[in-house]
Amino acid sequence: MDCVFCKIANGEIPSNKAYEDDKVLAFYDLDPQAPVHILIIPKEHIQSVEEITPQNSAVVARIFEVAAKLAKEKNLTDGFRVVSNVGKDGGQSVPHLHFHLLGGRSMKWPPG
Ligand code: 5GP
Repeated sequence: MDCVFCKIANGEIPSNKAYEDDKVLAFYDLDPQAPVHILIIPKEHIQSVEEITPQNSAVVARIFEVAAKLAKEKNLTDGFRVVSNVGKDGGQSVPHLHFHLLGGRSMKWPPG
């Protein structure tokens, strides 16, 4: 499958890794939007939040455990944001489920 994040997950495309296990990879975003901007993905190809099912949802819990661990490691003690963009209106540009971990500055709400 021609998916850039599948290629990052299997090492075909290099990335700056923040965490890896058998199911999950976390790596630094190429175009950081905050002092800390890490993408956390399932290694398995899931297109977006829309494709999460009872059969594949365990990896999402793992992803949030990784988000909490990385936030601690990065000393994001004043808070941070975890967000997943979905589809055209959500602003998703890569069709492989990913969660942005953003921190190190004050976030605005609502997002644009
Ligand atoms: P989305 O717009 O789908 O929510 O987020 C995709 C993110 O992936 C963007 O923040 C973009 O900068 C990042 N990105 C796209 N291609 C690559 C890549 O090849 N390597 C890395 N590290 N980040 C990427």
